[in-house]
Amino acid sequence: MAQQEDVFKKIVSHAKEYGFVFQSSEIYDGLAAVYDYGQNGVELKNNIKRYWWDAMTLLHENIVGIDSAIFMHPTIWKASGHVDAFNDPLIDNRDSKKRYRADVLIEEEIAKIDDKIEKEVAKARKRFGESFDEALFRQTNPRVAENVEKREKLHERFAKAMNDNNLEELRQIIIDCEIACPVSGTRNWTEVRQFNLMFRTEMGSTADGAMTVYLRPETAQGIFVNYLNVQKTGRMRLPFGIAQIGKAFRNEIVARQFIFRMREFEQMEMQFFVRPGQELQWFEYWKQWRLSWHKALGLGDTKYRFHDHDKLAHYANAATDIEFEMPFGFKEVEGIHSRTNFDLSQHEKFSGKNIKYFDPELNESYTPYVIETSIGVDRMFLSVLCSSYEEQKLEGGDTRVVLHLPAALAPVKCAVMPLVKKDGLPEKAREIVDDLKFDFATRYDEKDSIGKRYRRQDAIGTPYCITVDHQTLEDGTVTLRERDSMEQTRVNVADLHKLIHDRVSLTSLLRKLA
Ligand code: ATP
Repeated sequence: MAQQEDVFKKIVSHAKEYGFVFQSSEIYDGLAAVYDYGQNGVELKNNIKRYWWDAMTLLHENIVGIDSAIFMHPTIWKASGHVDAFNDPLIDNRDSKKRYRADVLIEEEIAKIDDKIEKEVAKARKRFGESFDEALFRQTNPRVAENVEKREKLHERFAKAMNDNNLEELRQIIIDCEIACPVSGTRNWTEVRQFNLMFRTEMGSTADGAMTVYLRPETAQGIFVNYLNVQKTGRMRLPFGIAQIGKAFRNEIVARQFIFRMREFEQMEMQFFVRPGQELQWFEYWKQWRLSWHKALGLGDTKYRFHDHDKLAHYANAATDIEFEMPFGFKEVEGIHSRTNFDLSQHEKFSGKNIKYFDPELNESYTPYVIETSIGVDRMFLSVLCSSYEEQKLEGGDTRVVLHLPAALAPVKCAVMPLVKKDGLPEKAREIVDDLKFDFATRYDEKDSIGKRYRRQDAIGTPYCITVDHQTLEDGTVTLRERDSMEQTRVNVADLHKLIHDRVSLTSLLRKLA
């Protein structure tokens, strides 16, 4: 684990050194849990957004996009339940003065027990080799059984406390499990309190009575309040979906782990409107489809798992997370929720407007049910970055840092380099850049040795480097170096476009899903 934490630290500094992510307001010592994306980061982020947008809207005839405002009428947040219930339980340690989320402390305790179980299984696997019967071992080993029972009990108690909003019980669990503050090491805890995560501000001058408005904590409500506008103007029929990408804001109690938990972040959300009674079958569809979207990137199929929710949010009748294996464990990247007709019904009630859908096939009006897929751009960015980062030992004792980014997401697709800065090679290289730049993010680089230039491109994940040398002037060929294998092949300048396109285009990625 310590080793993984080291790797994570390296990834964070790599992200800064190579212009992916900077701390916000750094020259003023930073603003906690707010980050800026640099010159390479913004490209990677835009490519992730494009992949999501195109997969949702181009590959599904019945999904369209919108872009709603961040500010919305404050009653929307009353209707959605966020004013009253968008809270996290917080607890302070009196000695270290550090603040924690009570639910997270308990979840970490459960994860520790899981770890113990897995370690025991791994040990036995090693001991018994090929003849190891894992299922039998899990059933019969007393230490495993004891921990499984402990885990189940704790889990049940925790889920009940969360569902009942029982803050005293949450505190009691922390005391009973002897959870200590990682900073002070003591168990001197305060009471557990609820803390609302919405940022508030004022709209209009105070003289005319300013109105309290919120920075939206999710983009979903902008879709709900527009669903009928889109349905009518787009002549959509159920089932149909509305997709949106945009900023969301949450005053997170504990902001840790870099861009994993930010106070200003970006979401990619899609609300899919279906007939009542069909929601669970669509929930299943979207669960599988979204997982395929992730897996198509090739980051490693074993890095994903579903985590079904114990505490269903006030609006949901089924919910699961897609978790990704980060250096700090499996963590939620995306949520898939069956939100019933809760939101639309609430908006109908609070606005007093009829927002029912008229179903021409059934010849009746009703409030649609909704399946939501909600993914954080920044968490997706982090999962791509973490799983792509490698410090590689090369033959001859050399090392390189390489980002094995999925080619379609890489900020730069190819770099063109003249071997030397003379003899007409720079001019030839520029000619190639001028041809490729319309279709691919292309860089020209002539500084330093060719080896150093390759390393710079490896560090930002550029899939291809094209080197122009004296032979190029004679026969119109260049060397094409591939990032992961470092293999170099001699190819015709005329073939470059096709070769690069086949590997780096978003189209090839989308085709895997179609
Ligand atoms: P968590 O339990 O980690 O706080 P959540 O369950 O509250 O997340 P949702 O409300 O389901 O998250 O939001 C959908 C997605 O938005 C999450 O899967 C995550 O990718 C992203 N997200 C939520 N909060 C943050 C945040 N503070 N920073 C970055 N991304 C976030």
